[in-house]
Amino acid sequence: MQNQLFINGRFVDAAEGDTIDVLNPHDGSLITKVAAATSTDVDLAVAAAERAFPRWSAMAAADRGRLLLRLADAIDANAESLAQLESLDTGHPIRDSRALDVPRTAACFRYFGGMADKLQGSVIPVETGFLNYVQRAPIGVVGQIVPWNFPLMFTSWKMGPALAAGNTVVLKPSEITPLSTLRIAELMAEVGFPEGVVNIVPGYGHTAGQRLAEHPRVRKIAFTGSTATGRRIVEASQGNLKRVQLELGGKGANIVFDDAKLDAAINGAAWAIFHNQGQACIAGSRLVLHERIADEFLDRFIALADSIRIGNPLDATTEMGPLTSLQHLERVKAYVDVAREQGGHVMAGGAAPSDPSLAKGYYVRPTIVEARTPQDRIAQEEVFGPFVTVLRFDSDEEALQIANSTSYGLGSGLWTRDLSRAHRTAAAMEAGMCWINCYKRVNPGSPFGGVGQSGYGREMGYEAMHDYTEARSVWVNVDGNVPPHFRR
Ligand code: NDP
Repeated sequence: MQNQLFINGRFVDAAEGDTIDVLNPHDGSLITKVAAATSTDVDLAVAAAERAFPRWSAMAAADRGRLLLRLADAIDANAESLAQLESLDTGHPIRDSRALDVPRTAACFRYFGGMADKLQGSVIPVETGFLNYVQRAPIGVVGQIVPWNFPLMFTSWKMGPALAAGNTVVLKPSEITPLSTLRIAELMAEVGFPEGVVNIVPGYGHTAGQRLAEHPRVRKIAFTGSTATGRRIVEASQGNLKRVQLELGGKGANIVFDDAKLDAAINGAAWAIFHNQGQACIAGSRLVLHERIADEFLDRFIALADSIRIGNPLDATTEMGPLTSLQHLERVKAYVDVAREQGGHVMAGGAAPSDPSLAKGYYVRPTIVEARTPQDRIAQEEVFGPFVTVLRFDSDEEALQIANSTSYGLGSGLWTRDLSRAHRTAAAMEAGMCWINCYKRVNPGSPFGGVGQSGYGREMGYEAMHDYTEARSVWVNVDGNVPPHFRR
């Protein structure tokens, strides 16, 4: 298991020798100690990425793509061990790591591997006698900060487009869950990525993360995490006016209309909030139910939530694992208190499971709370756990009003059999993504990102390639005429 920094193609200890304990969320035991990068290490990593940039950016795009494709193959070849590592470190149920995290990571690198030589510039129809073409050029050294909720997948979302477009990377995984990202670095070295193209610096946000965000030689910073930290990243980026891409929090509204197919909606709503223990920025954390079906829906939804198998993430039958850190467990539990203080009705969960074998882990049962009003804190603030807030509505207008009543705008969903209502509502949702009769679908070709306090810029798809390049405009005097202005 790799636990050092990866700088300039080598695994090294942190300059100041510090380490951080990486804990198993199932029982709080120590998995390993990982090197903790500080400013000195970040500076070394940026210098390595800067040295690697001229050669990497000049390499034929197809060759860069080939390396990404080889990485995707290496991920497939090591799928089981990667899935085990991700589950051990994060608490993701192993069935999800096997079926989702690992294949999606390989698919993302494969998509951008294929995309590398498909990013084309354009020719602009300008005045006769001139040719104007626009090239998409890489930006330079990019800094990337990845959170703890989907470390493996988010590493591919961030690195895939950046590398395909010809940038070099310094990436800081969360110190809570750095292991799968370091394993990816090992695989990159094995498949032949040149030294310095990718550098991995696990460490604390306020030191390593802050240095990366303010570093004068970093040309772009891409961040996934909380809105509060996103604001700090923007402030830190100002020194050299680096480009910023932010994928922040969410409070996804999942609307169930009274004509919805209930079986699918109940199952989909459970997936929307309980997958990965609700630790997802796109989680459907507000369940907005039509008054006419609300009681029946809730009876069945509560029964389903109570039946979810909670357990050791490495057990193949586990459907929900622990939260990823003790600190986060405390935060989620505090919201149960907030709900009660504000008159919310806790209909399920709100406590740890009774199974004594889980007592040392960071477990909490699927929690369903009906809020009094859409303005309650539990209906406005991101809990980021297996905690869903129920709200009711009477009309389509009211459903939309509730859905659009937070400052966030990332994921959203709706369930109906009425085609017009579906498209009308989707168009009016203030959100970067909307799922109709499904939830949480992602694909490397489909742009992912938010509006409002959920951030800006897009991951994945063609948009991500654009976000990792600059448009360079070149003018050619085709006829070779002397300009008329000072002609003698
Ligand atoms: P943060 O936003 O604080 O952390 C995310 C990442 O940013 C971590 O790697 C963190 O490092 C780093 N970071 C923290 N401060 C700075 C800084 N000043 N400069 C640069 N990087 C920094 O989220 P938390 O982990 O504290 O979680 C709090 C809440 O954030 C969650 O409950 C959830 O609501 C939201 N969140 C949203 C995510 C998403 O997918 N959009 C992902 C994670 C969290 P360090 O851990 O050392 O602080």
